[in-house]
Formats: sequence, structure tokens, C-alpha cells
Amino acid sequence: MSKLKNKVAVITGANSGIGLATAKLYLKEGAKVVISGRRQEALDEVAEDLTGDFITVLADVSKAEDNVHLINKTTNAYGNIDILFLNAGIAPPTPTTEISEAHYDEIFNINVKGPILAIKEALPHINDNGTILFTSSIVSKKGFDGLGVYSASKGAIRSFARVLTSEVKSRGIRVNAIAPGPIDTPIYGKMGLPQEVVEDMGKGFAAQVPLGRFGTSEEVAKTALFLASDDASYINGIELEVDGGLSQI
Ligand code: NAD
Repeated sequence: MSKLKNKVAVITGANSGIGLATAKLYLKEGAKVVISGRRQEALDEVAEDLTGDFITVLADVSKAEDNVHLINKTTNAYGNIDILFLNAGIAPPTPTTEISEAHYDEIFNINVKGPILAIKEALPHINDNGTILFTSSIVSKKGFDGLGVYSASKGAIRSFARVLTSEVKSRGIRVNAIAPGPIDTPIYGKMGLPQEVVEDMGKGFAAQVPLGRFGTSEEVAKTALFLASDDASYINGIELEVDGGLSQI
């Protein structure tokens, strides 16, 4: 059965990892999908692989004008939006003693300002009873060294989601966040760390997870499908951990 038949879904950070797995699953479930990312080459590559009704849109979420462009392209192609999945994010680590203004700005511009501006642009074009999803993270509830600014950014977006849940309630729009634990995606290779450090970090995370392993993008995508579909029709305002139990012990 197609759980998202004819629904229009916009996914940011959809050319890689969790966003790409979700785009594939949404297409399989009958949605029209707007696949957004900040690198044209990566968008072109995934477009070659995908089947279904989709467009790609080049947009850097940290730029106000790109968020306007993203929503304009979406409404021109498909009309109003049913599902807005604000997933793009970065996680470069830095110990607190070495935090620079540039480090702070980069993370907050992409992880916090980006989704907030995208929502502002999209809201007039989201159908009543639509759904907004965020990718937050369990890091806002834990204390992983070096991830101070990243953890703060994910905590900020979780707080924003609570307010939004209330502000859109009269339109029946549901707002939820997905908080992944360690998920095997390209994000770890983009942290600017040597490969062996990334591998040690990975082993350390996996050892702390009750299920003893990293999760997959597909496991998060299935959660994004559940929360966007009618199966979750009475689920609103939550942050759902997809972390093998890591944040619960
Ligand atoms: P990823 O690196 O594979 O995907 C991140 C996506 O965001 C990419 O498509 C990238 O191009 C996009 N992006 C980054 N900056 C952007 C910008 N300025 N404008 C537009 N797009 C931009 O990593 P992922 O693990 O799939 O990450 C997806 C989300 O999941 C992120 O928000 C991340 O913080 C969150 N997350 C990941 C993990 C994990 O362990 N992988 C854990 C918790 C939360």
C-alpha cells in the first residue's frame, strides 16, 4: 500500500545519508519529492539513481534567499506542501577551548537558522493537516566531548519545534522531531578528523548502544515515513529517539 500517495514532500539534505534514504522510501510510497541539497554534483548523482516523481533543488539552507528559492521551486512544480522534512545538518567537533566564532556561526546557521527560515517560507504553503519533521539528535540529552556547539544547536531546534507545534495547531499540522543516535552515514567522514579517530569514535559509540551497533539511514527513514504518514495521526510535538536505546540508559 502507498502510504504517501500524491503527498508533496520537501526534504533538505536529501542527497546523502538519512535524507537520501528517506527520499527513496517516500518515492516508493507514492510521494512527490523535492530533493534539496547544497551541491549540484551530488544532486545530479542521486537524480540518476532515483525513480519516481521528484525534482532536485540546489539550496544552501543557511541562506535566506535559498530557502525562498526552495519553496518557490516546490510550489511551482507541485503546488502546496504536505510534508516538510528539515534534515540538513553538520556536526564538526571542537573542544570548547578551541571554539571560534566561525565554528559557532557555521553550525548554528545550518542546523538552526536554516530550518527556521525554511519553515517561515514554507508555512503559508503547507496544507492543513500536513506534517513538519526535524532531524534533531540525542546529543542534546548526552554529553559527548567536543560536540558542545552541535549539541546546543540540536537542543535549540528541539525547543523551536515545541513552539511551532503550538503555533500551527489550529491548522492540524503535526510537528515532530527524530533524534537519531549513531547512524552509519557520510557525516562522520565530514567531521575533519583523521580516519582512525573516526573509527575509534565509531567503536566507542557502538559499545555504548544497548543494541551494540550503529543504526542505518534506512532505519531512520522508516521512522520518518511513520511520523509523516497517517499511522502517526495522533503523534504530535514529540522527539522520537532512533538510537538503539543509547539515550535511555
Ligand atoms: P550526511 O552528511 O550524510 O547528510 C547531511 C546532509 O545535509 C547532506 O545532504 C548535506 O549536503 C546537507 N547539508 C549540509 N549543510 C547544508 C546546507 N548548508 N544546505 C543544505 N544542505 C546541507 O549526514 P546524516 O547523518 O544523514 O545527517 C542528516 C541529519 O541527521 C543531520 O541534521 C545530522 O545532524 C543528523 N544526525 C545524524 C546522526 C548520525 O549519526 N549520522 C546522529 C544524529 C543526528
